[in-house]
Amino acid sequence: MSDFRDDAAAASEWVAQYLEGVRELPVLAQVEPGQIRAALPDSPPDRPEPFSAVLDDLDRILLPGITHWNHPRFFAYFAISGSEPGILAEYLTAALNVNAMLWRTSPAATELEEVAVDWVRQLLDLPEGFHGHIEDTASTSTLAALTAARHLRPDGSILCSEHAHSSMDKSARLLGMPLRKIATDGGRRMRMDSLAEALRDGKPAAVVATVGTTSTSAVDPLAEIAALAAEAGAWLHVDAAYAGSAMVCEENRWAFTGVERADSLVVNPHKWLLTPIDCSLLYTRRSEVLREAFSIAPVYLRASEEGVTNLTDYGPALGRRFRALKLWAVIRCYGRDGLQSVIREHQRLARLFASWVEETPGWEVVAPVPFSLVCFRREGSDEENEAILERVNGTGEVFLSNTVLDGRYVLRLAVGNHGTTEDDVRRAWELLQEA
Ligand code: PLP
Repeated sequence: MSDFRDDAAAASEWVAQYLEGVRELPVLAQVEPGQIRAALPDSPPDRPEPFSAVLDDLDRILLPGITHWNHPRFFAYFAISGSEPGILAEYLTAALNVNAMLWRTSPAATELEEVAVDWVRQLLDLPEGFHGHIEDTASTSTLAALTAARHLRPDGSILCSEHAHSSMDKSARLLGMPLRKIATDGGRRMRMDSLAEALRDGKPAAVVATVGTTSTSAVDPLAEIAALAAEAGAWLHVDAAYAGSAMVCEENRWAFTGVERADSLVVNPHKWLLTPIDCSLLYTRRSEVLREAFSIAPVYLRASEEGVTNLTDYGPALGRRFRALKLWAVIRCYGRDGLQSVIREHQRLARLFASWVEETPGWEVVAPVPFSLVCFRREGSDEENEAILERVNGTGEVFLSNTVLDGRYVLRLAVGNHGTTEDDVRRAWELLQEA
């Protein structure tokens, strides 16, 4: 145990120094493919090595090949934060090493999950009666929701907008369900006339609405989609993996109008609620359907307790990490006020960046900025925009990503790290202009 204490102190010091110094590191790994692998031994050691050797190689070999998602100048994809309470809770989680598959296999893990997920429900102002549990990613949450939809209508299809996340395509493939993409309007929101027509043509099992699409963070008209889905008897799944966290702030809740009619909803605290990856919340108002779809109890798993929840009955995995601990720690250590101020600051920074782009001749913002994502481009060819992105990312100072909208190459800057300041966003803008 004395080795453990020393190693734990060293690891803890490593983490503290990393978090203090991360902004000095190149945000995007500047290594060649295969470089890290070549620096690692081909075969495992025969004799035990000290943990300090692992820490040494983390610094020496691995760190150059890390793209620092926890860097204040990470602006790519959807930027995220592994906040300090979340990091510490992950350490405790590993020590407990709980498998929360059944209530009995760790009552506290199940009951804390129910409480923490319900706290988030309250923070997002979702209706009472939404049952929630934690999955690893939004891809799994969506797969679980669409499995429930298929359980009710086995021959049905899935309808989603052409801007829905690729996890819809993956789920459809895994579930063997046809997928139909619905056209979007100028704001990249699902078109209601096209949805109505598709609903008339067939008997869909599920309609998926997205609140905060991956490319542009567009918001599908949830209330109207809910009405059409209900008329067709289809399951309504809402993908709010990224933007759902923004509902902590009242001023964003327009985007959730109609959410009370959703059959299921996914929100990822690991995207914008300061929780280290992985933590995805799947809410449903029809938990009995998920349970029917997923509950398979072999003899050794039959629980004798009455009135308890076995969370394995609500999704694909049997073994379940104790993810609730980090979510609970984050909510407690930030509180509602702390979470709101992080989200508000990110939205302020995104709007500020968008205003600089708009004011500068030769640059344009190409999509509305409802949350913390700005889509923009330099006037000129796709090749020029691509070259700008490569030059900017090549500096190692910032990391941005891209998308394609209406056939044009578009740059994306997403604010989502808790360490990001106005200076960081300004530096990104300077680098873009220089490039
Ligand atoms: N849905 C949306 C809108 C997303 O933007 C993403 C990822 O960025 C996902 C789903 C998939 O998330 P995950 O990586 O948790 O599966």
